[in-house]
Amino acid sequence: MNDTNENPIYELKPEINFCTCGCEARLVKERSAESEKGKLRYVVRCLDEICGHQGRYTQYPWQAILEWNKSPMSEFPEDFQIPFMNLAGLSGEEIRQRLNEHRMALEQKIKQLRAEKVSGNTEEMKIARLQLMWVIYAQSWAKLKFPREDELNPPERNAETPAPTGQTQEA
Ligand SMILES: [Zn+2]
Repeated sequence: MNDTNENPIYELKPEINFCTCGCEARLVKERSAESEKGKLRYVVRCLDEICGHQGRYTQYPWQAILEWNKSPMSEFPEDFQIPFMNLAGLSGEEIRQRLNEHRMALEQKIKQLRAEKVSGNTEEMKIARLQLMWVIYAQSWAKLKFPREDELNPPERNAETPAPTGQTQEA
């Protein structure tokens, strides 16, 4: 897992997925309201104003892209690749397991860094957090692409409450 530390941060920059309406989306930088101290924030928004799709506001630009990419408002690319993981030749279930393991390892690492009082501004922390966002994005892709049987046929009693599973667990 340590080999991933050598990834320069720019390799983690995500491409912005297309909107499900077929239009391109772009990253927008805005200033928040005075009440929030007018801080800069980022969001990805569909270029078609009538469509109106937009992702979550975030503090960092790449985070906004990954939030958009994993949302149901954007299309996953045909050729899905994670810059720091090679999933070639694995079955769907293996991919999902690898992603789960990687996510847990990253969450552990971030916890460890925090315990050591490593600043969020260090390269190591930034990379770990970006990789975690990437893995969460990849998990939403893998879930759609390689659904498990129970995800295809949800138990009947849940049929009326299709609660979306919260995937945005903050570490
Ligand atoms: Zn759109």
